[in-house]
Amino acid sequence: MKLIRPCPNCKIELRFPIDKGTVKITCPNCKHEFLANPDNPELYLESKFDFKNSKQNLANQKLILTILFYLILALGFFFLIIDFNKILLLIHPSFEESTPEVIENKENEI
Ligand SMILES: [Zn+2]
Repeated sequence: MKLIRPCPNCKIELRFPIDKGTVKITCPNCKHEFLANPDNPELYLESKFDFKNSKQNLANQKLILTILFYLILALGFFFLIIDFNKILLLIHPSFEESTPEVIENKENEI
């Protein structure tokens, strides 16, 4: 969670995290330094919460979605390439025993 608060010296709006304990803020405009203590109620005067997703969060979400997309794609190719019998064996191991019996019976008939 981030807080938007004007600099006590030059009143320019600053955005900083309040979920990381007391942080030392240096204003990039006037170089004024002050401590932001999330437990101090005075910090929240003239302040507003930043509920919007930061650009970093949006980039992370896009990255996770891209990785998930390629993972599903790779899984699809894996099941296309792998033998269907091997999938059956993974699900039901007794298929290994039943399949050779059928072939043997056919050979005996001829
Ligand atoms: Zn300032």
